[in-house]
Amino acid sequence: MIDEKKASEFNKALQAWFSSQGRVLPWRSNPSPYLVLVSEFMLQQTTVAAVKPYFQRWMKRFPDVQSLAVATEEQVLKHWEGLGYYSRARNLHRAAKAIVAQFGGIIPSDMTLLRALPGVGPYTASAIAAFAFDHSVPVLDANIQRVIARLFDFRENIATAEGKKFLHQAAASLLSENEGRQHASAMMDLGATICRAGEPDCTACPVRAFCKATDPAMLPLTPPKKAITHLEDWRTVTIRRGKIFLIQSPGPTWKGLWLLPPAESSAPPICSLTYAITRYKVNLHIVNAEAMPTWQSFSQENLPPMPSPHLKAIALFKLQKKKL
Ligand code: SF4
Repeated sequence: MIDEKKASEFNKALQAWFSSQGRVLPWRSNPSPYLVLVSEFMLQQTTVAAVKPYFQRWMKRFPDVQSLAVATEEQVLKHWEGLGYYSRARNLHRAAKAIVAQFGGIIPSDMTLLRALPGVGPYTASAIAAFAFDHSVPVLDANIQRVIARLFDFRENIATAEGKKFLHQAAASLLSENEGRQHASAMMDLGATICRAGEPDCTACPVRAFCKATDPAMLPLTPPKKAITHLEDWRTVTIRRGKIFLIQSPGPTWKGLWLLPPAESSAPPICSLTYAITRYKVNLHIVNAEAMPTWQSFSQENLPPMPSPHLKAIALFKLQKKKL
């Protein structure tokens, strides 16, 4: 841990760097609780670069918690289309409804109340408390976990109960009484731009004098990644009189979204593409089959929410057909 005097010096150095080198992010300029709530849901398992365009589009369509609460699930999923991990969109929608029903549309600042909202775990609750309400609480995203593990030269697995406890205590010891938002933002940016995964840029680090790491590239220690499983998936792009046939996902994967119908694997594919989802690598093969009575047809100009790999497969299929 670090004592109060050192923590104050640390924060001075960190803030001096952050005031000139901090990132400009669309949810930072006016960090209203709703903006922070949406950005934190979108940033779960997704990079800042990928989130930015979705965030801006989302805010145009759902500018406040009320407009989101009254939307249909299909509208919500359509605006999330391409961002992946769709349970986040469904949870954000449910959270908006709960905020309107239970708190009159005002997002609570209390961590216990935040934790009770759908899809809000310990990390998201602390991030909302810090970024939206300026509370001085430890915020431990992957970037900050890495910075802390290195600063304190923590050589244990950070995913264990002891590892989590250590990170939490170490992060708490670095906090100042005020300015929780500035502190968490600066720590996050330090991890994203200087104390990066792999080889950090220690020569440019504003808090190098406080860092105990002797071999930072090996930190943090994490559990081994699960092996990738390869899958083959056969689907049909069936278009009749300008309309395309789809089925609704039986769930739980892509619940609420519409998919290309499954097809026989014996037919030679017209085209194929590969995509990754969680720990799976899927080879998606496209054929052209007769429509089944249980499938639903949709105008190609007005498709319901669909996962990106299936949208890409339709585009690839059309391109291939043109060539033939
Ligand atoms: S000195 Fe290097 S390892 Fe330590 S916090 Fe800075 S960038 Fe990270």
